[in-house]
Amino acid sequence: MERVTGDHSESNCQRNPVFGGAGATEGGIPWASAAAWRETQRSLKRTVAASLADLGAAATLAERIMHRYDLAGDLFDELTDVTCGACPRPCCLDAKVWLDFKDLLLIHLSGQEAPPGQLRRDWWGRCRYLTSNGCALPRGVRPWVCTWYICPDQRRAIARGLPGAPVRLARWWPQITSWRDRMEHAFMLAVYRPSGSQRRPTSRWSSCGSLSCR
Ligand code: SF4
Ligand code: SF4
Repeated sequence: MERVTGDHSESNCQRNPVFGGAGATEGGIPWASAAAWRETQRSLKRTVAASLADLGAAATLAERIMHRYDLAGDLFDELTDVTCGACPRPCCLDAKVWLDFKDLLLIHLSGQEAPPGQLRRDWWGRCRYLTSNGCALPRGVRPWVCTWYICPDQRRAIARGLPGAPVRLARWWPQITSWRDRMEHAFMLAVYRPSGSQRRPTSRWSSCGSLSCR
């Protein structure tokens, strides 16, 4: 079976695009300040609206990912019911994670509202969306890593009694990862090279550090 889990600590995108002006990245956390976050959401929203006609491929991939999230959500509801309630040390207390560029793309391309801020402003605090009842964010606007992380207790629960889950996870996880890559690629192609025109770098996006737009 393919590996379906991972370690929160090594999970974030290592090539976050840097845009939104000075201060967009703080200590490696993208858009950590309220101003950089607001500017980034505004910019993405405008870009998606302006390029809508060229974003069909990216939007279709976003739709597929959201559909898989729905299916995975049912599985995870079952899993959390039997594991997280009694957890002595919830992983979200220690997870150093944040929304990366693909997470934001998915949110905007699927017509969702971005959360009011990045998960954390620095390395020391906790995720701002962790509540006494668990995560306050719907799955579709959480970082992908928050969904794909499956802790050892959950792996044991899967092995013990969720028939079909290992097969589904082994199939879905690489699929979603690949669709996210392709979604970003399709987005960059559409924004930089809309149909029927010359390559169109904009100042907003030209500072993107993503490999797929180099
Ligand atoms: S996913 Fe695992 S570590 Fe995280 S809260 Fe649930 S049981 Fe605890
Ligand atoms: S967004 Fe939700 S799932 Fe992810 S670290 Fe924060 S509280 Fe946990």
